[in-house]
Amino acid sequence: MRIDDTIAAVATPPGRGGVGMIRVSGPRALDLARALTGLEPRARHAHFARFKDADGEVIDEGLLIVFCAPHSFTGEDTAELHAHGSPVVLDMLMQRLVALGARAAGPGEFSRRAFCNDKLDLAQAEAVADLIAGAAAQSARSAMRVLRGEFSEQIGRFRDTLTALRVRAESSIDFADEAVDSLDGDDLRDELRKLREQIAELLACGRQGALMSSGAEIALIGRPNVGKSSLLNRLSRRDEAIVSDTPGTTRDIVKCDLLIAGVPVRVSDTAGLRASGEKIEAEGARRARDAMRQADLVLLVFDVAQTDLGKEQAWVDELRTQDTAVVAVANKIDLLAAAPQLPPQPPLDAVCVSAKTGAGLEDLQTRIAAALGCADAGDDAIGARRRHLDALRAADAALASALAHADDRRAELLAEDLRAAHRALGEIVGEFTTEDLLGEIFSRFCIGK
Ligand code: GDP
Repeated sequence: MRIDDTIAAVATPPGRGGVGMIRVSGPRALDLARALTGLEPRARHAHFARFKDADGEVIDEGLLIVFCAPHSFTGEDTAELHAHGSPVVLDMLMQRLVALGARAAGPGEFSRRAFCNDKLDLAQAEAVADLIAGAAAQSARSAMRVLRGEFSEQIGRFRDTLTALRVRAESSIDFADEAVDSLDGDDLRDELRKLREQIAELLACGRQGALMSSGAEIALIGRPNVGKSSLLNRLSRRDEAIVSDTPGTTRDIVKCDLLIAGVPVRVSDTAGLRASGEKIEAEGARRARDAMRQADLVLLVFDVAQTDLGKEQAWVDELRTQDTAVVAVANKIDLLAAAPQLPPQPPLDAVCVSAKTGAGLEDLQTRIAAALGCADAGDDAIGARRRHLDALRAADAALASALAHADDRRAELLAEDLRAAHRALGEIVGEFTTEDLLGEIFSRFCIGK
């Protein structure tokens, strides 16, 4: 992808609206603005302009604003044409700009230029996309914290600490003969431990933010006919899942995107983990297992009237060993009133609900948010992406190994681990990236951003 030519794109969403904006960025942006309007624009001033075609016919009239490098979003000369929000008008303006020498920009090209010109680091550029894509107010807030640079500053502080530690570790290798041993004493180990604690805190805030921006995966499991599909319908208030009283109707997985306590979640209703002779059901059960493995949270539904909960207990135990959060749900409590002899206290610490009447649904939503660690995430959550969390985990693993090497006084291995931790943190802000990674990140942006 070229980054030295002049690009243009419609920056407002497709469709009709009061205003449609075209953004032009690159060395010829101001020339194109002059050619299109006949004006000699002043930087950062709104000019009333007539946008004209090659024959001097007015295509539309609106506002022209130009920004001169490096004082623009991309860091390049930039022109913004605020026209009417008509797809036809915007298309004619784009054609005119292309005829004048602009190239129609691909997805994320403006943000990529901002990154290349050091206007944003990689985490901030990603936050722009997350802010636009966010489905909930909380995810917008947490993306904004990254965009403002809070996350990058924290990473920068970790890297400064690591630089100081690396100097000590590496000098103890270089000067080993002169008996200067910087690895002596506990303070280096203390610093490593402190750094690990700080990384763990940032990871916790980032995990919440990642859940809010990319959403949480929730798998609904339970025996056939306990009311999983009905519960999903209740949660989504739609008839997405098929409800029937023949056991095993939900053979495929039904997915549904919802907001639960402000957190975007995707709930998969599975076919129930039932051993079955039927081929199709066996396939459903296999998919259910996959969904369960990928889930951030499993909702294990059972019928409150059920007396044998051996299988449910086994599922809970299995999920606990995999470190998957699980919330047990005792459904059909509306039937309890009619049959008061049924146990009032559900086992497995379940939330009692009725998918039929909606009773207990609010409690369930609160429990889900708490189990996802988002109950009170609001202000601390950082709109991290999974990529960032992986890098933080890699840095932490390298620091754990560094601590072990510090204990054994193996300076070279210690220095190597510190270098690896430093590099992992650098990947977050884009200091070490490959062309592939950048291509992958920016291609997911929308056009015009
Ligand atoms: P699934 O196989 O676990 O997905 O179960 P379904 O959602 O298909 O429900 C099976 C049957 O139980 C249907 O006849 C539902 O109407 C009924 N059912 C589901 N939830 C409740 C509930 O809370 N109370 C009562 N009384 N019936 C329910």
